[in-house]
Amino acid sequence: MNRLLDAGLPAPRTLRSADDLVAAGLAVSSSELTAVTAAYATAITPSLADLIDRADRADPIARQFVPSPAELDLRPEELPDPIGDHTHEPVTGIIHRYPDRVLLKAVSVCPVYCRFCFRREMVGPDKDGSLSPSELEAALAYIRQHPEIWEVIITGGDPFMLSARRAAALTRELEAVPMKVIRWHTRMPVADPDRVSSEFVAVISSRSKAVYVAVHCNHPRELTPATLGACARLVDAGIPLLSQTVLLKGVNDDIATLEQLMRAFVQARIKPYYLHHADLAPGTSHFRTTVEQGQDLVRQLRDRISGLAQPAYVIDIPGGVSKALASPADVETESGRVRLRGRDGVMRDYAGT
Ligand SMILES: *Cc1c(COP(=O)(O)O)cnc(C)c1O
Ligand code: SF4
Repeated sequence: MNRLLDAGLPAPRTLRSADDLVAAGLAVSSSELTAVTAAYATAITPSLADLIDRADRADPIARQFVPSPAELDLRPEELPDPIGDHTHEPVTGIIHRYPDRVLLKAVSVCPVYCRFCFRREMVGPDKDGSLSPSELEAALAYIRQHPEIWEVIITGGDPFMLSARRAAALTRELEAVPMKVIRWHTRMPVADPDRVSSEFVAVISSRSKAVYVAVHCNHPRELTPATLGACARLVDAGIPLLSQTVLLKGVNDDIATLEQLMRAFVQARIKPYYLHHADLAPGTSHFRTTVEQGQDLVRQLRDRISGLAQPAYVIDIPGGVSKALASPADVETESGRVRLRGRDGVMRDYAGT
């Protein structure tokens, strides 16, 4: 980067428009993409643009971030708010769906915009859903007034877009509330790993609360040395990492890729947490697998790799009910008889009840 600056070349910057994509060699013509970029926010950071193999038309990184005309294909089952955030929003920025935990949507912007995003109608630079100081105060007041809240899940958008100063202030405010667990959900270690600086890690660390970070990552190639460095800064500071992966057609819907991804997480000290079935977000049918395909992949993972490397396969029930566990079970019960499925795929009668 310094070398580029010394040479008088502009520093690489985030690609945001159809013209930017053409100039970067990631799209052939901007005219077929302007309708897409007008409908949904677009951003590709230099780190991710560098990762894309321009020669591979099916590149799994490009597929996740480069807009496609397929996004204009809307299906009747798709919903603007597929996971029903708005049905459980008692005050702006708080989603209270389960009694013991809330989402705190601190910002509505992201370093990159994933083409399959379940909140794609709510995120983007023009959505301006970042909480104002008074909205944040009201959200914190809600948390204070509800002692049953045990965990605050900070999300967005991507909450690692907060400046270190604002992330520090939020952490200190939450430390003053009786809740116990702070969980951040972010794509920043993948999208812009340098922003997960030692300073940022230090300010979100806490002596009085358990702090967890869930990293959104869908393909093993996203775990570059810089991304692994960002993850190591978090873990070395005592912040356990969890993974969040969306099962995506043409990105990770094959057992070799999923196996490699889950192993890479464990090697990076990231505990696989969730494998999300792709939500019914508008214009994302080209990303969705069937649930049967998802279950088949999860069963194969179970048979092939360490228990440490197993994510739970989940589907958000449209309307904001809850997540449903979609991982296939190894137990069948039928009129009091229990049968167990072994790693060898064979079902065996169990003598217990
Ligand atoms: C997913 C989600 C959570 C967190 O669920 P966990 O299963 O605890 O990870 C909390 N609130 C809402 C609204 C959610 O969508
Ligand atoms: S980082 Fe998360 S919130 Fe942002 S676009 Fe991607 S999936 Fe959506």
